[in-house]
Amino acid sequence: SKITGKGRVTHYDAELNSARERRLAIESQIRSGLDNGEFDVWYQPIIDARSQKMVSVEALVRWPRRPDGALAPDDFITIAETSGLIYGLGQFVLRRACQDLEPYSDLKLSVNISPAQFRDPEFEEKVASVLAMTRFPPTRLQLEVTENYVLENPERARAAINNLKMLGIAVALDDFGTGYSSIGYLRRFNFDTIKIDKSLAGLVDNDDQASALVSGTIRIASALGMTVVAEGVENEKQMKLLRLAGCDQLQGFWYSQPLPIEALKALRQQRHC
Ligand code: C2E
Ligand code: CA
Ligand code: CA
Ligand code: CA
Repeated sequence: SKITGKGRVTHYDAELNSARERRLAIESQIRSGLDNGEFDVWYQPIIDARSQKMVSVEALVRWPRRPDGALAPDDFITIAETSGLIYGLGQFVLRRACQDLEPYSDLKLSVNISPAQFRDPEFEEKVASVLAMTRFPPTRLQLEVTENYVLENPERARAAINNLKMLGIAVALDDFGTGYSSIGYLRRFNFDTIKIDKSLAGLVDNDDQASALVSGTIRIASALGMTVVAEGVENEKQMKLLRLAGCDQLQGFWYSQPLPIEALKALRQQRHC
């Protein structure tokens, strides 16, 4: 048993080492990927529930030209966050998205921000300088943050949100329903928009409890004057139920996958929207 125990420890060490090596390898690939222009930004339409027109898009980073095969954002964003590379990556996404969307004056733009980016005391200034450089109107921009960010440093969160709002930028609470906070707590942070996570919104057509939770969330958020977006809308039934429950905007594969800017342009021409 001693031998087995030792063998297991060695095996465990080897796994830890290879996980660390993989992380370090990806870290240096992100660094060179940024230099070599390997990252892209794709856009997923956000649809007004009543008019069924595209009113906004969410920018989502993509890494298609990665040397050893594509990697999902959930996998490399975490590594970018822990290594500090998220500052450069986040800045790239914001700049590219503002450049790409600037000509579409009828569309708003929503960009994901990691808690780590917000930790930068100059974050708001950096956002303002990207807007100035790309001539993108602040009133068309929304930044999406998760509750982790707010819980981590409530004072900084409150200040940052208010600074952004003074610039004319909207702030959305992303992934609502995956964490622990109540809307009552979160409303004190002045969010303009709440995005109901796909893991919750996607259940409305077959789970009564989830459905009741979604309806309640929508009612409270609407009463507090927030715009409510449901993400992960994958079929017509979900779309109809979410619209009936009072969602303002809908996002998901039922309408469109995230698209490269050229495909978004083509879709708009085709749909005349
Ligand atoms: P998120 O912000 O919650 O983004 C929505 C995710 O849901 C996207 O995954 C999108 O492709 C996916 N999605 C959209 N509609 C549907 C649907 O109907 N069904 C299903 N199953 N999924 C749908 P993606 O692009 O893989 O991004 C994953 C996460 O990575 C994002 O979750 C966000 O947390 C992070 N992320 C992506 N781009 C960025 C970025 O530029 N900056 C930062 N900080 N995070 C990013
Ligand atoms: Ca998001
Ligand atoms: Ca989400
Ligand atoms: Ca997320």
